Amino acid sequence: TNEYIHKNVLVIGLAKSGLAAAKLLHKLGANVVVNDLKASKQESAVLELIEVGIKVITGDHPLTILDEFQIDEVVKNPGIPYSNPLIKLAQEKNIPIITEVELAYKISEADIIAITGSNGKTTTTTLIYEMLLVDNKRPLIAGNIGTVACEVAQDATKDNVIVMELSSFQLLGTREFKPKIAMILNIFDAHLDYHGTKDEYIYAKGKIYENQSSTDVAIINYDDEDVMRSAEGSHAEKLFFSSTKECMDGTYLKDESVWFKGERIISLKDIVLPGEHNVENVLAAISAVKLLGVTNSAIRKVLTSFNGVKHRLQFVGEVLKRKFYNDSKATNILATSKALKAFHTPTILLAGGLDRGNEFDELKPYLKNVKAMVLFGETAPKLERIAKESGIEVIKRVDNVEQAVYTAFEVSTTEDVILLSPACASWDQYKTFEERGDIFIQAVHKLN
Ligand code: ADP
Repeated sequence: TNEYIHKNVLVIGLAKSGLAAAKLLHKLGANVVVNDLKASKQESAVLELIEVGIKVITGDHPLTILDEFQIDEVVKNPGIPYSNPLIKLAQEKNIPIITEVELAYKISEADIIAITGSNGKTTTTTLIYEMLLVDNKRPLIAGNIGTVACEVAQDATKDNVIVMELSSFQLLGTREFKPKIAMILNIFDAHLDYHGTKDEYIYAKGKIYENQSSTDVAIINYDDEDVMRSAEGSHAEKLFFSSTKECMDGTYLKDESVWFKGERIISLKDIVLPGEHNVENVLAAISAVKLLGVTNSAIRKVLTSFNGVKHRLQFVGEVLKRKFYNDSKATNILATSKALKAFHTPTILLAGGLDRGNEFDELKPYLKNVKAMVLFGETAPKLERIAKESGIEVIKRVDNVEQAVYTAFEVSTTEDVILLSPACASWDQYKTFEERGDIFIQAVHKLN
């Protein structure tokens, strides 16, 4: 029953997922060849592969590999484009090219709930996981969110359920992947550099529904035309969610509450996560867990306490009646405008960072509630111009995020929201957006 015995499989691109795929394939009895441009044979993880007899080729992508090792299948790292000459050649030779997500599906004994979308994947995946956890449904979390899918799938049993966050890059490399429950949250014009056209991007996302049958469920965002379009050919049972229309057969809003098929689940004011976009994520999450029989009390328990995935509009705490939010993940204008839209009270915005040549004029419509801006990093001067042109009264320039917290606190009054949502990448001053967010959190805690 194991199709990989004696199969010649080439794993292209190591990283965490490639390493896991190579080891798994070896365990399944495949003859594994690994090819990575940069990996060094001195690395302990690579040495481990060599020790068990896996052939490791580094330094370039020699086109001769395919014939030399009579490769039957390629497992590609999602980040490697299809324009890569070795991938192109494999395509020409009709060698199947998959991502490790496909392997995860093939070996998993557990049902898979698959989540994709341009935005909101991590939040929704985490919400579903937490709700299943509170209700003792033994969930495992995997995929784009950080734990390698095929590694998690190896340890999963029938009693587990795998909650899997998927990027469109991962989905492009699926063939038989057939999740029990699949959802596309939304489709925006993202990643067009990789996918070429929007149609191709929609096609990639739509693959999440492609193999589903009538015993599976496709959860569909009723408010998003492109999502609706991508689900048109689906054979699955369809479950819609909407924040604009009362979808009586699905998940929807009515009387300031969330409803599932005529049953009231929770009042919007009891949901800790801020922002309209998060309401959509909540609708999607509730759709999935209700299908799996999670109780309303478990759903409520999570939604009344879950304060966001770290660095994504995360509620950090309250100090002297000022509320602090860490949205360090907002590395572009769109994300920051989303964050600003989430608040309807006076807001102090902490922003700035790596200069990518943006002028930030698109931020202007969202600054209505912003009473002060505290700016740092390379883009501080540009953001200062925007602040001035928008008539914001208090504009402060500081050296870093820590200072920004203290300065924001100084100029704040009770009931203010103090929001780190930089609209820029962090690399001019910090290693990662996580480091920038951690510094924000620490500075807020020092105020206490
Ligand atoms: P992803 O994993 O898809 O990147 P996240 O849950 O990490 O998504 O959220 C990233 C950012 O995307 C958030 O800070 C927010 O600005 C925005 N976002 C989240 N959910 C949605 C949604 N449903 N619709 C639009 N934007 C959203």
